[in-house]
Amino acid sequence: MPAHQIAVEGLHKSYGQIEVLKGISLAANKGEVITLIGSSGSGKSTLLRCLNLLEVPSAGQLFLEGQSIKFQLRKGELVETNELRLYRASLGMVFQSFNLWRHMTAVENVTAPLIHVLKLPKAEALERAEQALQTVGLFDRKDHYPSQLSGGQQQRAAIARALAIEPKVLLFDEPTSALDPELVTEVLNVITALAEGGATMLLVTHEMRFARDVSSKVAFLEAGKIEEFGLPEQVFGAPNSERCARFVSSITH
Ligand code: ADP
Ligand code: MG
Repeated sequence: MPAHQIAVEGLHKSYGQIEVLKGISLAANKGEVITLIGSSGSGKSTLLRCLNLLEVPSAGQLFLEGQSIKFQLRKGELVETNELRLYRASLGMVFQSFNLWRHMTAVENVTAPLIHVLKLPKAEALERAEQALQTVGLFDRKDHYPSQLSGGQQQRAAIARALAIEPKVLLFDEPTSALDPELVTEVLNVITALAEGGATMLLVTHEMRFARDVSSKVAFLEAGKIEEFGLPEQVFGAPNSERCARFVSSITH
């Protein structure tokens, strides 16, 4: 059997005395979309942030394509090794708040990590960036600044930036939660197209219809643990957990 594209085993995360993640194990095969659902504060963002080492896990192991990811700590901070940079660059992250650089155009936003992190030559970076902007349907707006783009367009630019690094896994943390309702669909359509194109994704969303359609598997988080895990039909239609049933019904009705 081929190795999982990404996996985490026994992940714990504490802030001081408070344990936010209490032993999470999760794996995605290549091309799978795993959606994380759960109420606010259940640990979904912390899980994604530990996966790409924006946060230091308190315990547990990360694997990318079956390789265990080694990271070093000095005084509780991650040491910026080459391995860590490579690992981070193999995961594309999209945040709720877009996180575009305001003083750069869309294409400059997409090109910047290619030049500064991947160290690509400018011409190659530009070619890749334009390709990614095509993919998200934003090529005609490539020279616009974030302030000249709608929220949906800004988020599509952020997706293009994540895509252009050609990541092994895409991580999305509530990519449509900051958008006006009429702009949600254009972003969900882009994510759906990427999923259909075979991208491996971990996705936090409150868009339950979308989650049901796009997910290979769904994980319901509750107080730092995976309380329910399975096919979308099962998690949404016939969950074993009472709390999962209540959450799903509260958010879909
Ligand atoms: P979710 O994304 O599911 O809403 P989070 O992962 O953001 O949940 O948060 C899980 C819990 O961890 C919350 O109780 C939150 O207050 C706490 N938490 C998150 N980040 C920090 C931090 N940097 N310091 C202390 N507590 C934090
Ligand atoms: Mg969150």
